[in-house]
Amino acid sequence: MSSSTFAARASRRRGSSLPEDCLFCKLVQEGDHVAKGDGFVAIRDINPKADTHLLVLPERHVPSFREIGEFPPDEAKRMLDFIAETAREAGLEDYRVVVNVGEGAGQTVFHLHWHMLGGRIRGLPE
Ligand code: AMP
Ligand code: ZN
Repeated sequence: MSSSTFAARASRRRGSSLPEDCLFCKLVQEGDHVAKGDGFVAIRDINPKADTHLLVLPERHVPSFREIGEFPPDEAKRMLDFIAETAREAGLEDYRVVVNVGEGAGQTVFHLHWHMLGGRIRGLPE
């Protein structure tokens, strides 16, 4: 294992929610997926803040967007492509992509996720 892989694993373990008890790690494995890519899924938000409110979840567990550097560059790019592709497939032309980073910004689930909001938007996801 390279030292950077080791550092990434150690840092994931230090995260505020461990993969073993992480809701979104569970939903990546067994959720009701609207779309599925190589390493990413999209699900419907249980408490929608817009006509269409999807969440894109990477399989890789990092607690928040702060740790985006733990994604290999190609995987980070594929994640962005997956978001755009999922929006297209959901029939969204105009939409918002929102990431809450940290409790103070409204983050409640500490597994990186991307909100996609389209149609009539009723408020910010929190
Ligand atoms: P955030 O507040 O940015 O961490 O976003 C977490 C989002 O996850 C919220 O919009 C919640 O409504 C949503 N959520 C929580 N539990 C579930 C679940 N079981 N299935 C789908 N969405 C969920
Ligand atoms: Zn997780």
